[in-house]
Amino acid sequence: MKLNEKQLQDFKRKFSDILNEKDIITDQDTIAPHLSDWVGNISGSSILMLTPRNKEQVSKILMLCNDKNIAVVPQGGNTGSVASGIPNGEIILSLKKMNKIISIMPDDYSITVESGCILSQVQDAAMEASRFFPLSIGSEGSCTIGGNISTNAGGISVLKYGNMRDLVLGLEVVLQDGKIMNSLKRLRKDNSGYATKHMFMGAEGTLGIITAASLRLFPKIENKVTAFASLRDLDATIQLLETLKSFSGELLSSYELIPKIGLDIAITHGDDLKSPISDVKEWNVIIEYSDTKNNDNANESLQNTLAYAIEKELVCDAAIASSLSQTQNIWKIRKAIVEHQPKLGGEIKHDVSVPVSCVPEFIRSTTQKLVEYLPGVRPVPYGHIGDGNIHFNVCPPRSYNSDVFKQSTEEIREIVYGNAHTFGGSFAAEHGVGLIKKKQMLKYKDEVELQLMKDLKSFLDPKNILNPGKIF
Ligand SMILES: Cc1cc2nc3c(=O)[nH]c(=O)nc-3n(C[C@H](O)[C@H](O)[C@H](O)COP(=O)(O)OP(=O)(O)OC[C@H]3O[C@@H](n4cnc5c(N)ncnc54)[C@H](O)[C@@H]3O)c2cc1C
Repeated sequence: MKLNEKQLQDFKRKFSDILNEKDIITDQDTIAPHLSDWVGNISGSSILMLTPRNKEQVSKILMLCNDKNIAVVPQGGNTGSVASGIPNGEIILSLKKMNKIISIMPDDYSITVESGCILSQVQDAAMEASRFFPLSIGSEGSCTIGGNISTNAGGISVLKYGNMRDLVLGLEVVLQDGKIMNSLKRLRKDNSGYATKHMFMGAEGTLGIITAASLRLFPKIENKVTAFASLRDLDATIQLLETLKSFSGELLSSYELIPKIGLDIAITHGDDLKSPISDVKEWNVIIEYSDTKNNDNANESLQNTLAYAIEKELVCDAAIASSLSQTQNIWKIRKAIVEHQPKLGGEIKHDVSVPVSCVPEFIRSTTQKLVEYLPGVRPVPYGHIGDGNIHFNVCPPRSYNSDVFKQSTEEIREIVYGNAHTFGGSFAAEHGVGLIKKKQMLKYKDEVELQLMKDLKSFLDPKNILNPGKIF
């Protein structure tokens, strides 16, 4: 049930037994930024936002909501891309005030934090203890650990360290009836029955409220080397990836695809960005090596591997950054594609994955199908190619009316998602399902698996008070 104006006063009184007055927010100007996501997909509504400061308060809020059949939508930094944290009349439960680093155990290579901690806060805390927390995404200055876990966030370091799921040792979760599941263990090994923590990861806030997490840390990175390479063709992207892995193993930490059209967008619209090489080919990659040793090892290894790849005609030209500003320039190109792509007259976003070896054929065949559907259409497939994850965004033909282009959204989505499916891929690689991909969930998810998910949801949230209407 959603809250109406009449119930609001009654509930405000009840919540004031649990929370400070200033943590019960009804001012619409304060609530407004929480009603839409940064992609601008959906505009939601809510007349009440609660900002608890500890797990006991979260527990009491859920106990009351469950009792009165009132639904809540958990929110962290609201940087999600599929409108999974956007309310449709429900109460917003913002975890952002629960932002304490609870403990850091360098010897255990672990950190325990409240779920409202900003990702960069956790990265910094790890660094201060001479450790490294590897999750790295463009929104790291705003997104929260709770959101990262609930979306199983990916980013540019998955190749070496895995998704957020791989970085979680233990969780503390408040269930729909207010019970607190304390599984904040720092253990690498714990085979004591079902791994219940995994149910809440990637669940987009539909199964429980994550209030704290124990996370894995790694040895501090002392040296990073970044390169930009222009490749012979699309097939060379996967051949080069294999070469880098076999020559340099664990040093390789990021491998991102940058098509020429993406580079052009970044250079044209980005803030004073320069192409790292002069003769840019159609397909390019950003390569990053990271090393725990502060010596020339990573640099030499990357130089030697690129020299070999040039000799084998996989790589046409490459530049290794030799200063901080050159490194920043390369990574800013990657970020500028995300930011400025809509300037090509609009964009239809897709976050898909296929097996790594299928990426070249997937990009070629999807492009062909799109061009057959709408001649002149401009695909911009870029991103985490080392994980088989492509942000296959599609821009309209030059001088095409952007409103007319938007009318093709459903058809274009079906071409991209449908083709990913034929390659054994996923329509939701790292951003989740939320409200935006519910249709694809029904169409592409294995029926038995989908039913199992629905059964789990009914069991853990029988009154459907946790982020209702999301995922399915
Ligand atoms: C510039 C930019 C770059 C990005 N790059 C990447 C990228 O490379 N890889 C990637 O994976 N994502 C990326 N994202 C998407 C986004 O940042 C991630 O999905 C992030 O993990 C969301 O965290 P958040 O705190 O903002 O969550 P929110 O957007 O607030 O919420 C996301 C979901 O988690 C739920 N939730 C939030 N907190 C909790 C909690 N404590 N308990 C239970 N449920 C909760 C919400 O209900 C919602 O369903 C990017 C976003 C931006 C703006």
